Amino acid sequence: MKARDVNVFYGDKQALFDVSLDIPDRSVTALIGPSGCGKSTFLRCLDRMNDVIEGCRVTGEITLDGQNIYSPQVDPVQLRARVGMVFQKPNPFPKSIFENVAYGPRIHGLASSKSELEEIVVNSLTKAGLFEEVKDRLNESGTGLSGGQQQRLCIARAISVNPEVILMDEPCSALDPIATARIEALMEDLKKNFCIVIVTHSMQQAARVSQLTAFFHLGKLVEVDETTKMFTNPTDVRTQDYVTGRFG
Ligand code: ADP
Repeated sequence: MKARDVNVFYGDKQALFDVSLDIPDRSVTALIGPSGCGKSTFLRCLDRMNDVIEGCRVTGEITLDGQNIYSPQVDPVQLRARVGMVFQKPNPFPKSIFENVAYGPRIHGLASSKSELEEIVVNSLTKAGLFEEVKDRLNESGTGLSGGQQQRLCIARAISVNPEVILMDEPCSALDPIATARIEALMEDLKKNFCIVIVTHSMQQAARVSQLTAFFHLGKLVEVDETTKMFTNPTDVRTQDYVTGRFG
């Protein structure tokens, strides 16, 4: 995906200023920066979730495979199948594990038979590293799983409609360290097939999981570079101060 000169306003308050960023495919891009700097706002531009926020206005251009996702020809519902989102707090539907994953492929008409749908569900749960743990209870409620399992279920749900991009907004902040490590390992695996963008409060997490890091401050994209460079030898003094813990 590519963002060019993106500005976001909530009413007359501007939250993002001229953000331009190229997000590579088959890679993890981390968005870091102090609370309120606009990371989630930027993430929500990428799947047009800001559309549903009253008074929110986005200008500039964001493309996916060269197509402007804000063009009138683009249906936001179809877009969100191509650009999936995983939220901070795991939010499975109050339905069975199977139904949580089957819902998307069903409404998008991706399976022509019951067995095809089952195959998609099993594949998605497998790719999300959850199948072995839940294969004997696919008809039990998704909300009965542990927090980490619920988050992997949400990842399976996102994967089930064959997205190109997976957005993750602090996906581990409600999880314990073991569940966090599992999600991080999963990201390593998923990046072979997907473009992943993660918002994280944790610089250690950004350093562990991402190849590219973008540092936001006061609504501006201050610096973006290879993650190793950002954490060892950033160009901008504000990045330097942030990654060395001087503020934020
Ligand atoms: P971050 O994810 O980096 O913590 P956000 O993107 O959530 O930052 O917020 C950026 C700025 O936009 C903040 O000043 C925040 O108060 C404001 N903001 C975020 N969401 C809304 C909203 N729904 N309505 C009004 N202002 C918002």
